Amino acid sequence: MPLNRRDFAKTIGIASLGAIVPNLTFGSAPSYIKNNSKKMKLSFQPYELEMKHTFTVAEYSRNSTPDVLTKIEYEGFTGYGEASMPPYLGESIESVTKFLKKVNLQQFSDPFEVNDILSYIDSIEEGNPAAKASVDIALHDLLGKLVNQPLYKLWGLNPDKTPYTSFTIGIDKPDVVLMKTKEAKAMGFKVLKVKLGRGNDQEMINTVREITNVPLYVDVNQGWTDRNKALDMIYWLKEKGVVFVEQPMPKTQVDDMAWLTEHSPLPTMADEAFQRLYDIEDKIKGVYSGINIKLMKCTGLYEAHKMITVARASNLKVMLGCMTETSCGVSAAAQLSPLVDWGDLDGNLLIKNDPFVGMKVIKGKVTLNDWPGIGVRKL
Ligand code: MG
Repeated sequence: MPLNRRDFAKTIGIASLGAIVPNLTFGSAPSYIKNNSKKMKLSFQPYELEMKHTFTVAEYSRNSTPDVLTKIEYEGFTGYGEASMPPYLGESIESVTKFLKKVNLQQFSDPFEVNDILSYIDSIEEGNPAAKASVDIALHDLLGKLVNQPLYKLWGLNPDKTPYTSFTIGIDKPDVVLMKTKEAKAMGFKVLKVKLGRGNDQEMINTVREITNVPLYVDVNQGWTDRNKALDMIYWLKEKGVVFVEQPMPKTQVDDMAWLTEHSPLPTMADEAFQRLYDIEDKIKGVYSGINIKLMKCTGLYEAHKMITVARASNLKVMLGCMTETSCGVSAAAQLSPLVDWGDLDGNLLIKNDPFVGMKVIKGKVTLNDWPGIGVRKL
């Protein structure tokens, strides 16, 4: 019986699922797939993300974030991806565009050859993690659409086990912090992430606590340089219902950071200090309690999935974060979220021009839909 296009896609997908499902082997694809002449087409478009509010952390403030939207088209299916470039990672619309112009997916005949394709992408040039993630996300979205399944199902994950996501309260004056905390409470968030590190830490926490008793995450963005003061502050934060402390000290103060983690009553999470898989061995073990994985830092879902496995084997805590992103990047990350301890996937809620609809935060919980791939639709 001849196969229609969707059945054909399902057939090749099932034959090749081993490529995206670690620990499962489905054998290699039938030879007629290797010989086909179908090609993947990558395209991309710069897109400026407009922030709802000025975003302030220990190092800077900003009102917009440069972004590049990508898509990979193949046999009538389209996978969507995205590169978001907050200033501190050093990528820009220019660098991402330049990188993507070098990408030649035409040399691959089978989109399920994920390992080959993404190894090639990573080898094009050093760095460029967001640019690489924009290809990785679009490729994974395409694969899910080809087999008509959401990625979390292909990874064998239970969508009920998604975490609550925190909502971020930036550093500001008390009246603004009060207003934002009230908004977050009204939106139903069950946990908040408070930015610290600009000298008004206790004021920030006390202001938030005027409104809510929900658990708090804090992110210092490398803002503390004295380890003894940092430890005192962490003890104080623990009394205030804080769950963990993200990047308390500069990533360069490795010995101080290791000392702080050893003595800290709360887990310490590496963000700026952590980027790629190999960092777990080189920079994290013995220095931090856990890692903050972001697709834009780590080149995408393929490496992020491996990171979670390695982190678990090393007894590290895992949180899943994001940049200021559209629902595309956030929904991609959300596919992995049943595997992590803590979620910080509010990036799409911070912008006012989201071109996608996808993962939703319902009563504070990351809520996956059953759409294929990364679970997004273009508006
Ligand atoms: Mg952070």
